[in-house]
Amino acid sequence: TQSQIGLIGLGTMGAMLALNIAEKGFPIAVWNRTASVTHGFKAEAGVLAEKITPCETLADLVAAIAKPRAIILMVPAGDPVDEMIADLTPLLDADDLIIDAGNALFHDTDRRAAAAAIKGPHFLGIGVSGGAEGARHGPAIMGGGLRSDWDRVAPILNAIAAKYKGEPCADYMGPAGAGHFVKAVHNGIEYADMQMIAEVYGVMRDGLGMEAQAIAETFKAWNTGPLQSYLIEISGEVAAATDTHSGKPMLDMILDRAGQKGTGRWTVIEAQQLAATIPAIEAAVMARNLSSRLEERLAGEAVFGAAPQKTANVTLAQLEQAMIAGKILCYAQGFALISAASKAFDWPMPLPEIARVWREGCIIRSSMLNDMATALTEDAERNLMLAPFFADHLKATHGALRQVIAAGALSGLPVPALASGLAWFDMMRTGRSTANMIQAQRDFFGAHGFERVDGIADKHGPWAGHGL
Ligand code: NDP
Repeated sequence: TQSQIGLIGLGTMGAMLALNIAEKGFPIAVWNRTASVTHGFKAEAGVLAEKITPCETLADLVAAIAKPRAIILMVPAGDPVDEMIADLTPLLDADDLIIDAGNALFHDTDRRAAAAAIKGPHFLGIGVSGGAEGARHGPAIMGGGLRSDWDRVAPILNAIAAKYKGEPCADYMGPAGAGHFVKAVHNGIEYADMQMIAEVYGVMRDGLGMEAQAIAETFKAWNTGPLQSYLIEISGEVAAATDTHSGKPMLDMILDRAGQKGTGRWTVIEAQQLAATIPAIEAAVMARNLSSRLEERLAGEAVFGAAPQKTANVTLAQLEQAMIAGKILCYAQGFALISAASKAFDWPMPLPEIARVWREGCIIRSSMLNDMATALTEDAERNLMLAPFFADHLKATHGALRQVIAAGALSGLPVPALASGLAWFDMMRTGRSTANMIQAQRDFFGAHGFERVDGIADKHGPWAGHGL
């Protein structure tokens, strides 16, 4: 029998995805650049081996798949994807389908989809979240391209996706790069959620002097309340772990230099292009960038001394509430970015469905996302922070967020994502801002003109020689 689908790239993600597909009953043909990996893969597939056809060459792969063919690429984003498309195209029919499941920059997906529309084969870009474990047992999947191409492979993608109460966490997000765009914003939110957790961890460790075990217990307790989420859960687990080398808490032995592969940065760059406001995500990317400058931080500490850090001004209950407020604000910013992109790119990306897809399988899965799906179903245009459910939460928690940020400021405990989330919240509820000063300055030095509050048509101030 011919395979129903093909997969290229048996690395961490590709191997897991292929096993997941085979397990759900779909015969799959696989090819890997390094042939030994292909053979080893089948040999180690156990009972799933009978569903797997390892292929020596790309021509063998193409021949092994039933027409019209669908082939998933799971190779590093960038040039490898273009190279694979170039190698595959002469071997495929115009109605075959190439699916890029890597973390592509969505502009690249746009370009590839546009090229595919002219000469085929068809092209779909899907964002896959959940790491290796998710790929193996159920990732969240965000698709972009032609709806008809999505529908063609939806039975397989729905089958392998995570399920939330039986509903697959996989959906069509819109044309061309929409799937990869939504995946990038997912990762941006992930950066901010992780950063906020790291900030409250810092307040507990340095401000309250808590040991890793006590911090682990706190995260575990939070994971039974409104903050229930995969990221809080794993934060509890990492805080509880002991290093096998030193016998000390594992966390205490890990260098504080954070890595990144760029998707958070893409989200921030795109938000700037769209004039969308995502300061919590920007702060998270900034914090990762700054974390890697260890030498500069040590030089700073040598000159200024470490900040006092200990604080008596904050309780664990306030920290939990601050985290709830910060999380709502960060997601409100992320969804508003998708909303802005929907309009700017003329891609009707479905906000409620995005929240639904993120409820399981992906790194940012959390119980709050179900409430977000409900709020966005009520009204997808309204900013999430204005939805009554979240507005009530914010009213109850922003005082604690203020307290945590104030305590952090007084003790030199940096909380950039929480603080920028709060600044955004306060700006978002200020009817009369201070941008009148900006407008006056712009008019003074550049004669840019301003609008008046009383509607009088005079666009300039009484300053002499403005604009000269
Ligand atoms: P790995 O490095 O584990 O695997 C890369 C795979 O691509 C290998 O099979 C490798 O083959 C193949 N490959 C590399 N370069 C080329 C090339 N030029 N031509 C053909 N094949 C090539 O990567 P991952 O599985 O971690 O990542 C794959 C994609 O999935 C990336 O876009 C990544 O960003 C994305 N992703 C990763 C996640 C993760 O948690 N790791 C989560 C979500 C998405 P060979 O054996 O010959 O080296």
